[in-house]
Amino acid sequence: MTYVKKDGFKNLRSTKGLEKLITAKAEIARSIARAPSISDKYQLLATGFCGFDSFEEGQKKQALTKACVLLQSIEAELNNADEPPPQPTKARQTRQPPQSQPKRLSVYDTLAAYENSVKRLATPVQLLTGVGPKLSELLNKKGMKTVGDVFTYLPLKYEDRRAVKRIAELETGEVAVIIAKVVDFSFVGYRARSVFEMVVSDASGSLVLKWFKAGKYLAKSFKRGDHLMITGTVRRFNHTRELHHPETKKITVGSDGATNSDSTGFCGIIPVYSETEGLKQNTIKKVIAGAIKDHLPAYFSPLDIDIAKKLNMTDITTALKNLHHPEPDESVNQLNSYRSKYHKRVIFDEFFYLELALALRKKGRVLTKGIKFANVSTCSTELKKVIPFKLTRAQEKVTRELAEDMRSSKPMNRLLQGDVGSGKTVIALFALYVAAKNGYQAAIMAPTEILATQHHKNLKEHLDKLGVTCTLLTGTLKKSERTAALEAIKSGATQVVIGTHAIIQDSVEFDRLGLAVIDEQHRFGVTQRATLMKKGRDDSAELTPDVLIMTATPIPRTLAITVYGDLDVSIIDEMPPGRKPVKTKVYYESQRAQVYELIMTELKAGHQAYIVYPLVSESEKLDLMDATNMAEHLSRDIFPEYSVGLLHGKMKAAEKEDIMRRFKECEIDLLVATTVIEVGIDIPTASLMVIEHAERFGLSQLHQLRGRVGRGDIPAKCILLAQYKKSEESARRLKVMEQTTDGFLVAEEDLAIRGPGELLGTRQSGLPDFRVASLIRDLPILKTAREAAFALVHDDPKLEKGGNKLIKSELTKRMKGRLGLASTG
Ligand code: ADP
Ligand code: MG
Repeated sequence: MTYVKKDGFKNLRSTKGLEKLITAKAEIARSIARAPSISDKYQLLATGFCGFDSFEEGQKKQALTKACVLLQSIEAELNNADEPPPQPTKARQTRQPPQSQPKRLSVYDTLAAYENSVKRLATPVQLLTGVGPKLSELLNKKGMKTVGDVFTYLPLKYEDRRAVKRIAELETGEVAVIIAKVVDFSFVGYRARSVFEMVVSDASGSLVLKWFKAGKYLAKSFKRGDHLMITGTVRRFNHTRELHHPETKKITVGSDGATNSDSTGFCGIIPVYSETEGLKQNTIKKVIAGAIKDHLPAYFSPLDIDIAKKLNMTDITTALKNLHHPEPDESVNQLNSYRSKYHKRVIFDEFFYLELALALRKKGRVLTKGIKFANVSTCSTELKKVIPFKLTRAQEKVTRELAEDMRSSKPMNRLLQGDVGSGKTVIALFALYVAAKNGYQAAIMAPTEILATQHHKNLKEHLDKLGVTCTLLTGTLKKSERTAALEAIKSGATQVVIGTHAIIQDSVEFDRLGLAVIDEQHRFGVTQRATLMKKGRDDSAELTPDVLIMTATPIPRTLAITVYGDLDVSIIDEMPPGRKPVKTKVYYESQRAQVYELIMTELKAGHQAYIVYPLVSESEKLDLMDATNMAEHLSRDIFPEYSVGLLHGKMKAAEKEDIMRRFKECEIDLLVATTVIEVGIDIPTASLMVIEHAERFGLSQLHQLRGRVGRGDIPAKCILLAQYKKSEESARRLKVMEQTTDGFLVAEEDLAIRGPGELLGTRQSGLPDFRVASLIRDLPILKTAREAAFALVHDDPKLEKGGNKLIKSELTKRMKGRLGLASTG
């Protein structure tokens, strides 16, 4: 508006779209204004601009003048209200006391402060001074939608520019700040290639500055004799030292040689932010500085009331201020390694609310009533009579842990971890049987159709012997079969339901669900887990069903306490007897013939093999081999005398089932497949796994695939057939696979290579995206946060005492929809 108004409305005609811009901004401002009087004024402002674009020129001028008056009055009111006193201009030299700590606040004040803070943090970035629609879009792209996001957009690193050095002292490779005088400059070379060269000197020597592909404007920016503050990385070129594309700042130097210019943002510890196309360092810094100035003093974290103090941590406003504008006496090393006390506070904040959610969930469940199952030992004895093998020591131990849970009146919530092939299914069978024997229904949910079908086949055999009825429920049942299954589940005629996520659909009603088993949990989300548990809520008895979650993705302990922090954990750390580790070796494209030889050897010996491809069919975008074409090629040209089958996720259920049956019955020798076979498939006679384009698969996926072989007595091999072109990361993955078959080691490595979000599938796992925290780097802080959160819930399970109420509000705000919090009440 100022721009349009200046010089007697000179710019009025050339300015378009004012109506839209101003009404939109006023609307946003109105929605976040605290005082009703201010909100009203914004409303007036918006109304005044309705129809602006079609106004006569005189009307337009009037509207603009009125609007400016309104804005001034809003500004005045804001300044009189709760605004902090203007910060001293040299804020950086005088360390301010933290804003949120000093006075003891009454409960009412704290609430008001918190509510104000929530609003401030939620302020959209386009309302910050100097942020227009274009910049706001760029900021959004970088994850900065609100003021709160801007605060946690922390520097990638910090440059140490504290010491102003003399030119003679400069060392190659260092980032240095000098103060020097411009001696001479000129363009060297031709047109686009021209380099702007400048020689500067101080009392100790001289130095060359270079700008490549420099614009002509540069020559106009400097004068000979100017004093500059200069910074850049020192390079050596033959015998001279140079700075390329240095940052410079003109300064004045008094006759005594002392500078009297503000070196803020130039000297000191300088934060460096991640940039993008169009969003440069200085713009980011300006936006952040603006947000800090206008909103940081109002930031109020409920953790600062008590918890942070008890743990001797700085408050959040001090932390954020120092992370964006570090004082010169901080340790640059600590800042750069995320080890500063300021980082610690911000990271703590992120971890704390996650752990609090878990603590509440656990507490909530302890308070709910579960089913006390009876005759658990008898069940165990009966089960052992029908299975064809002796349980391993680890399986025995886990069975006992489960038995304990099932007997107790507290609902079971147990995570069973065991590497592929360690024998988790029989444990599930035990739990299913106990539930059925006690007159309850039980369900087991598998992530794929193939796996559900396989479970059904295996479990039915045993359940039949034990006199327990069961039903398969998947998405592809015929309508009549489905109706019958649903009816049997509802009436209670079916005791055990085995299926895919079809089980958690609305149309499925249980008569009396007492136990839910979820196999291969990593494929399911936390919400799905919650849905299945809810199905079992027996309203009349108010009993919560037991839950057993099984996973073959060994989760590193560090992650287990985070993601499954509310569960008890059992581990099968032993393989059934006779298993030999699968020998794994990487081959390259040039050795393809050799790989085919190896497959041939296995097939000749009467064994079976898998060969896995990343794609179902040819892709135009990716230059990869695909299962469909390769199956044809292998069958026709390479192994004509053997039977080659094809299995992928796009096939109909009946087709898939037929292929699996034929492979199991050794009618198919070589099974060409996609990763549909990744989980759970159990064919003991298969002895060779070949994975094509192995460089493209993740570690845990490779491990899962490898787990498909070596399930019988035949020594098994895994061949990772890789292309030469691969990243360093994939090279490391393949190496890990060659070196170990231990699932836990694989998982730790996977975590280190890919990070937790990828490993668990952030969205699926219900784990929030941390903005600053890292589950790998910040483990000690995670532990502190976990202890603090669990202690808080222990003392105040409902979070209703004093400031804890605010912590609860904050939690709800942060974790909305995540982690099934609704049920924690
Ligand atoms: P996973 O843990 O991968 O689900 P499964 O439960 O499918 O493993 O078991 C893998 C194979 O090992 C199955 O064929 C199963 O019958 C067999 N098995 C399980 N426990 C034992 C045991 N104690 N002794 C011998 N074989 C076992
Ligand atoms: Mg399994």
